[in-house]
Amino acid sequence: MTFSLHGQAVSGGIAIGRAHLVSHAILEVAHYQLRERDVAAELGRFDKAVATAGAELDSLRAEASVPGAPAELSAFVNVHAMILADPTLTDGVRELIRDRRCNAEWAMVQQMQLVVDQFDEFEDAYLRERKQDIVQVVERVLRVLQGKQRKLARRKAPTGADDDLIVVANDLSPADTIQFKNLKIGGFVTDMGGSTSHTAIVARSLAIPAVVGMQHARPLIQDDDLLIVDGTRGVLIVDPDAGVLREYRLRKTELELDRTKLKRLVSGRSRTLDGEHVELHANIELPQDAERAREVGADGVGLFRTEFLFMNRDELPDEDEQFEAYRSVVKALGDKPVTIRTLDIGADKEARALRNRAGNRAAPNPALGLRAIRFCLAEPQLFLVQLRAILRASHYGKVKLLIPMLAHAHEIDATLAAVEQAKSSLRGDKIGFDASIEIGGMIEIPAAALAIGMFLRRLDFLSIGTNDLIQYTLAIDRTDEQVAPLYDPLHPAVLMLVAHTLHSGEKAGIPVSVCGELAGDPTLTRLLLGMGLRTFSMHPAQILEVKSRVLKSNIAELAPQVRRLLRLEEPAKIREQLDRLNGVAPRADLN
Ligand code: PEP
Ligand code: MG
Repeated sequence: MTFSLHGQAVSGGIAIGRAHLVSHAILEVAHYQLRERDVAAELGRFDKAVATAGAELDSLRAEASVPGAPAELSAFVNVHAMILADPTLTDGVRELIRDRRCNAEWAMVQQMQLVVDQFDEFEDAYLRERKQDIVQVVERVLRVLQGKQRKLARRKAPTGADDDLIVVANDLSPADTIQFKNLKIGGFVTDMGGSTSHTAIVARSLAIPAVVGMQHARPLIQDDDLLIVDGTRGVLIVDPDAGVLREYRLRKTELELDRTKLKRLVSGRSRTLDGEHVELHANIELPQDAERAREVGADGVGLFRTEFLFMNRDELPDEDEQFEAYRSVVKALGDKPVTIRTLDIGADKEARALRNRAGNRAAPNPALGLRAIRFCLAEPQLFLVQLRAILRASHYGKVKLLIPMLAHAHEIDATLAAVEQAKSSLRGDKIGFDASIEIGGMIEIPAAALAIGMFLRRLDFLSIGTNDLIQYTLAIDRTDEQVAPLYDPLHPAVLMLVAHTLHSGEKAGIPVSVCGELAGDPTLTRLLLGMGLRTFSMHPAQILEVKSRVLKSNIAELAPQVRRLLRLEEPAKIREQLDRLNGVAPRADLN
């Protein structure tokens, strides 16, 4: 039966393909008692499933050893293979099948619970963490038992129509999503999440269509259902009829054509019709994203979210590993600048290797807690390692240092002192770095935008993080789909703060860029240009579309219109004026 569901459109485009459910619901298995005469067959079924799961891990191991595969993949495959081979798990299951006549799935879940409970008692945090690996191994065997093997990692390139693999989940963490970079995912939908959650941001960086905040999609969809994900309109169509399918295939082809046309803009300069040069930089999460930035002709990296280097692993990356990662981006960008942001961990971005550090207890309100620079200042040793690694990379190109989530003058001062300490320790070690490296701050907290003077006096440049600025100005958790409709980038208070920051930077002669998701939204390009923005930073996938807007804009014409827009307070009037700015005919409902 065909039906459609609506959510938050977070990453444009259309995917058509089969559903792949990702869920812990797999652990909710059938419980039944076997007849005595079926026990031997059930034991055989279980052993076969274990062997198949083992073979899956072997082939994953082969994939993990190809050049360019992430190092964590091979580490987790090895741990999983060890757990599967350990009789503590499998012997217990066999006993439950034999002695209690439990079906294999039920026996597996019971034995898992037993083992996991023992792990909970370990003092050692690392060992406690292994619990998750056991659950994942059990899920792998259960999938085989239930005939639902996961083929994610071994998927081949799409061969025909409707061949996208669409991940459907209740929720995906940024750490889950970043792993999609190595897999061929056509699109994804989640029940939770907001449009600027980091999960959505990673989707945009992958340029795969995504809809989040669907609320009830996961329980209504079955594995292998045919799905259409319209990431531009925020619609998911389940089991579409032939007419709808035809229409969406056509639209998908048109979008691909548009994309091909946009590629022609790669080499040209990004200048407005009245000759203003506009810099378009790339936001990246992992070193390999630098290649995409180069492909679309980015003017540099405006935001390297380094926290993603710390995710999906048990050990922190040491100074050398970080240095190599930063240097590889610097080298890939040649003489173009690379803005490296220090660790912004906390809120929705978690790294298990950091769980036992400062602020170990669960924060009652993580977005307002010990996040980003607050965390780094509370962990001076860890901060020093990162600062040294970034400074070392600055020896190989144009590196800028960016500090997230600053609100207080004393935080800026403490950060500058930490940078000085890192510099003098490198001098002591006779290691080269750029002594005049520029240091900038992110404007993401309303207090920072309002008391901008203390930032302008202390820092070399500023970058407005509109994702958090909106979250904190409107008191809307950016990851919470229940309040997503209230997350409004065009709220007059948000526009006032952005305009004030840009204007103050211009007066003080301090460059200000925008690196939040606003910068990559082509419907806001003219508004931001009219507000005075000349440096945008966004995901590589968005650069060419924004560039095409820049090329068709005349700042001298639109600046007075934007000034008028900024004097408005009624949301409907603001939208009407924005439409006018974008050359869109006024909508009937606004008149
Ligand atoms: C922002 O807050 O706008 C930003 C760019 O940082 P992040 O999205 O990583 O929090
Ligand atoms: Mg932020």
